[in-house]
Amino acid sequence: METKFIKINNENPEENLVALKEAANILKNKGLVAIPTETVYGLAANALCEESAKKIYEAKGRPSDNPLIVHIAEKREVYGLIGKQLSDIEFKLIDKFWPGPLTIVFKKNKLIPKTVSGGLDTVAIRMPKNNIARAVIRECGFPLAAPSANTSTKPSPTLAKHVLEDLDGKIDMIIDGGSCGFGIESTVVQVIEDKIVILRPGSITKLMLKEFGDVEIDKGIVDKNIKAKAPGMKYKHYSPKAKVVLIKGDKEKIVSFINKNLEEDEKLGIKSLPIVYEQTAHFYKEYLTIGDLSKADTVAKNLFAVLRKCDELGLDKVYIEAFDEEEVGLAIMNRLKKAAGDNIIKV
Ligand code: AMP
Ligand code: MG
Repeated sequence: METKFIKINNENPEENLVALKEAANILKNKGLVAIPTETVYGLAANALCEESAKKIYEAKGRPSDNPLIVHIAEKREVYGLIGKQLSDIEFKLIDKFWPGPLTIVFKKNKLIPKTVSGGLDTVAIRMPKNNIARAVIRECGFPLAAPSANTSTKPSPTLAKHVLEDLDGKIDMIIDGGSCGFGIESTVVQVIEDKIVILRPGSITKLMLKEFGDVEIDKGIVDKNIKAKAPGMKYKHYSPKAKVVLIKGDKEKIVSFINKNLEEDEKLGIKSLPIVYEQTAHFYKEYLTIGDLSKADTVAKNLFAVLRKCDELGLDKVYIEAFDEEEVGLAIMNRLKKAAGDNIIKV
């Protein structure tokens, strides 16, 4: 199939009404369209249609037990998709954080097909802030299931060209709306017995959620031996072809460990580079920078693009300096640990 690539102005998507209508027509005809959101690019299909949603799993190579997030254009649309009344806490979370990068898991109603919920009796719902995403949903008149628009296991796409790299020829259309503001996926929460449980960390942090109730981080995220509540958290993710090694510990020791390994790699003909921060870059001869150590949002925004750059450069191995695991840093380190798999070294 030929993948159509179009640009839409995110400030005022209605200027490109013809393109919006074309995207909506594809979605109405059970096709797939990659859309920008404020987190990462999403691969959208009609969330109420089993056949459409199945195509998402096929195009991404996504395991069928990993449910999709349903995107809506208005807060009130949530009522038509859930099987239980909103709790007080859920209502307040929606009021405060929608539109925005917070996904909430609810009990689902019959309209949500099994494919979308990955066989669970719950559904994850989010109202994106991105104007194009909401304009496409409105034009369709139904909610859109949209996981990240990458091939499963690869880093999530924060630019339309990343989507093209992974899904060219496999989907009907890509809408280029520029770079994604946050650069990491939404925070996923579920309210369980009046506690807000974080199933996937993101840019809405524990501290921001605390105002609305007790907040717990799902133990499955931090402990490999406990099953994560979000099925997607168990899968390898965010990995370039290069072997990713994450180095934690004392800052000086990290630098000397990495420099020693880079020297050894060079002797062995292994093509390797460090992924570092603006503050630590001067310790290395060659490097890729990921952002400012004191500004987590810059690191979050650059993270996936830098991981993709490793493949562009044909690297065999990269060494990444660990980030402080507080607040948005928890989400950054969650993605870095997934990219590294078992290659996490404490110095
Ligand atoms: P993605 O759309 O690729 O950003 O991934 C969505 C994330 O939300 C995955 O980690 C899913 O496992 C998680 N998720 C989606 N629906 C549910 C649900 N009903 N219960 C728990 N986690 C969910
Ligand atoms: Mg994903």
